[in-house]
Amino acid sequence: MTPTAPTGKIDQTPDLQPWVIVTGASRGIGQACASRLARDGYGILFTYRSRSAEAQAFVTDLKQALPGAALLAFQADVSQEAACRSAVEAGKACFGDRLWGLVNNAGINRDGLLLRMKTEDMEDVIKTDLLGPMYMIKACLPLLLRNRAGRVVNISSVSGLYGNAGQANYAAAKAGILGLTRSVAKETASRGITCNAIAPGFIQTDMTQALPEKSREAILQQIALKRFGQPDDIAAAVSFLLSADAAYITGQVLEVSGGLTM
Ligand code: NAD
Repeated sequence: MTPTAPTGKIDQTPDLQPWVIVTGASRGIGQACASRLARDGYGILFTYRSRSAEAQAFVTDLKQALPGAALLAFQADVSQEAACRSAVEAGKACFGDRLWGLVNNAGINRDGLLLRMKTEDMEDVIKTDLLGPMYMIKACLPLLLRNRAGRVVNISSVSGLYGNAGQANYAAAKAGILGLTRSVAKETASRGITCNAIAPGFIQTDMTQALPEKSREAILQQIALKRFGQPDDIAAAVSFLLSADAAYITGQVLEVSGGLTM
């Protein structure tokens, strides 16, 4: 049977429930995505890098708020290919073969002007933000191809679309994700799989918390909708791209930035 997107009802038999992987969901945008997609009715395997207590607290809280939610936390550093494969295996063991989607969210930044940027900061960002999604997609493909249906959503950034001073490493990785997205879209379309990217603008999370107040104020002035984005704004777009309504959209980049770059 060809899997179809779930209807929003939680299926109490996990092996029949379509499931989704969300990387880096112990906090921020990833957590909002995992929470939203659990509410949409998918089983969720989410990964985190190191904060086990945070990840388990999220599982407990969500299961309390949404009785019947099928949610599994798995420790995996996405910059390690073997860990990515293990995450998919763990999801398969828990939820079965009906993998419906992958949300490549995990990411880091190590900002600084390129002239002074440490090699380590270039490599870490490329490994996590670009190789990580590539490893994850490769690990998921056997299941998605066999199912002849599915969705991949990669979280890029407006920095990847337009560049950003102080983010050469991050912008390069996030631009690379766009090439990855379009190539995977072309390679998998004949099997009913779509692959799209979302380019968030300024979203209020730990990642943007570190910016000085003056920089935040300057960015706010450039946002047409005059507010910073919230993780749920990105989760809503992810939910749409995973839904049946997005079946005819592939290889695209959806900017979710409140009009930051118009
Ligand atoms: P965050 O720092 O709050 O959360 C990042 C998540 O990624 C965490 O759960 C962390 O554990 C996980 N992670 C980091 N490195 C990992 C690794 N090697 N392996 C596994 N997990 C790892 O950041 P956020 O703001 O929620 O960002 C989420 C995604 O959105 C990132 O890809 C980021 O680049 C992108 N993004 C964020 C913004 C923004 O304004 N916050 C804007 C554009 C794009």
